[in-house]
Amino acid sequence: MTTELIKGDITTIKADAIVNAANSSLLGGGGVDGAIHRKGGKAILEACVTIRDKQGKCKTGNAVITIAGNLPAKYVIHTVGPVWNGDSEEKNALLADCYRNSLTLAVKNNVKVIAFPNISTGIYHFPKDKAADIAITTVNNFAQKEKIDKVIFVCFDDENYQLYEEKLNRIKQ
Ligand code: ADP
Repeated sequence: MTTELIKGDITTIKADAIVNAANSSLLGGGGVDGAIHRKGGKAILEACVTIRDKQGKCKTGNAVITIAGNLPAKYVIHTVGPVWNGDSEEKNALLADCYRNSLTLAVKNNVKVIAFPNISTGIYHFPKDKAADIAITTVNNFAQKEKIDKVIFVCFDDENYQLYEEKLNRIKQ
C-alpha cells in the first residue's frame, strides 16, 4: 500500500472510492458532505435513504458504502466522524474507527484506491494536528493493508496539507 497527498477537492478524484465525512443522518450536510452530494447528484442521496430505511442512522465511527453518482469515483464510503468537545480517548478512538471501518468496507468491495478527506476537522472541530496523526497511524496500522494499493489523503485547506506533508515525509525518511 502506498500513500499519496493531494491538495484539492475530493469530488474531482478518480479513485475506486472516495470517503465522505458524513453526519449520522446520512442525508447530507455542509462541508465535504455538501460538495459530494451537490456534485454526485441525487442518486447518492437516494442510496443513503435506502440504507437509512434499512438500518437507521449511522453511528459515529461506522461507515456505509454507496454508488458515486456523477462523480468520477466508483463508490462513496460515508463515515461519521466524532464531534470534538475536548480531548478524550473516546473521541480519538472513534476517529480511528472511521478510517479503519472505511478501509474494511473498501477491502470488502474490492476497492484498490481510496481517497480520504480530513474527517472531523471542519464543522466537527477536531484539532487538525491530532486528527492527522490518528489518520496516518490508523491507515499505516490497518490489518489488511496489502489488499489496498493506494490511500490518497486529500487536504482542502493549507493547514491540513502542511501537517500531512510534514508527517508523511517524516515516516518516509
Ligand atoms: P466534519 O463535519 O467531519 O468536520 P467537514 O466537511 O466540515 O466535516 O470537514 C472535514 C474536512 O473536509 C475539513 O478539513 C474540510 O476543509 C474538508 N473539505 C471541505 N470540502 C472539501 C472538499 N470538497 N474536498 C475535500 N475536503 C473538503
